[in-house]
Formats: sequence, structure tokens, C-alpha cells
Amino acid sequence: MRVKVLRQQSLISAPYWETFEYDGPADNSVAGVLDYINYHDDIINAEGRKTTRIGWECSCLQGVCGACAVVINGTPALACETFVRDLKGRDMEIRPLRKFPVIHDLKVDRSSIHENLKQADVYIGEYQPTQDGNHAHQYAAAKCLKCGLCLEVCPNYVNGRTFFGAAFANDCYLVASRNRTKGGRARAVYAEHFGKTCSKSLSCMEVCPMKIPTLASMAKMNRKGK
Ligand code: SF4
Repeated sequence: MRVKVLRQQSLISAPYWETFEYDGPADNSVAGVLDYINYHDDIINAEGRKTTRIGWECSCLQGVCGACAVVINGTPALACETFVRDLKGRDMEIRPLRKFPVIHDLKVDRSSIHENLKQADVYIGEYQPTQDGNHAHQYAAAKCLKCGLCLEVCPNYVNGRTFFGAAFANDCYLVASRNRTKGGRARAVYAEHFGKTCSKSLSCMEVCPMKIPTLASMAKMNRKGK
């Protein structure tokens, strides 16, 4: 299998494609493939030339941290949860997420997700248990990894400066439903940075590795007092 990777040495350098031959296990994940290519002392590309290790990010390798979010054969996905066998023998093309600045090869700077939450003060703060029957959805919304896959496919998210996307919307819902003091403010920033611009393509829900029902968060935010 040939593995084509969109590489970029730094934030300011130009991107370029480099191809590698992969002859490792067929049941590997894409994360495993990257690890396999990088494992050798000398990294040789498909043209037989010596090159540098592929930069990419991972932590848990089991779909919990969200660090390995990339675009594989045009589909945004976690590298650790995408398997070679499911690509049906096709060659593989891996590129970094496009809505964030590239740090190195497949590593991107997703700090804007957290900065937006911080600046809008979207943190639960003092925990206030509720008796309103929303626990199941609160649990689902709280699973957000901040991986950024939903932002990759969102037609409204450009660079996170005005529209903050599904990751932000779900956290707004959590704050609004769990902290009575901050709830009003959470609804206001939700409306400003998500509610009034979201065109409801719902593509975010299709790629979300945690299957977060963002539409339900939106519906609950649109109801009075919930
Ligand atoms: S909503 Fe889903 S896709 Fe978006 S950042 Fe959270 S876990 Fe990732």
C-alpha cells in the first residue's frame, strides 16, 4: 500500500506531498501505519530517498483523547479508529485538518477551541446537580474530545474567530443546564457564536467520534428554562 502524506515543516513553510510504501500488518490502524513508517532508524520514502519522520500527534491511541484527528482519503477521522482493512486496499492519503494552523506535518494548533471557551467563560464552575431528567444528554454532551473533526466539515466554521462550532455549542449547553448563575451568560454567547449562524447541515454529527447529538443540545438551548 502507498501512503501519501501532506507534509509541512513549519507554520510558515509550503506544504508538499510525500509518498511512503507500507508493508506492515493489514489489520493496523492508520495511527499504527504512521508509527510503523516512523519506527525505522532511517526513514525512506517511496522514491527510495532518505527523509524525516512524519510529524503527527497522539496520546491514548484508543479514541479517548482526540489528538490524532486528521483527514484520511478525504474523510475527517481519528487515525487510531480508522483501520487499513476498512480502506479496502485503496492507497491511503493523509492530510492535516484544514481549519487550524499547521505546526508540523499532521500536527495542528487547535488551541482556538479552548481559547474560545475560555474567553466566553464557558466552564461549568460550581457544579449544581439538577433533577430535570436531562442527565443522559448532559452525559453525552460532556464526551466532547475537542478533537476538531466537526469543525473540519462545518460549512460555517472558518477560523474560529466569530462562529465557534459544535464543540462550543455542546459545552454551552452543559453550562446552561448545570449552572444557574452562569446559565444566562452561556445562552447569550451560544446565540452570538453559534445559534444565529449555524445553518444546520448537521455534518458535525456525522463525523463526531463520540456520536454527540449536537442537534439535541441545540433544541434544548432553544427551549425556555432548560
Ligand atoms: S463535538 Fe465531536 S467531533 Fe466535535 S470536537 Fe467534540 S468530539 Fe470532536
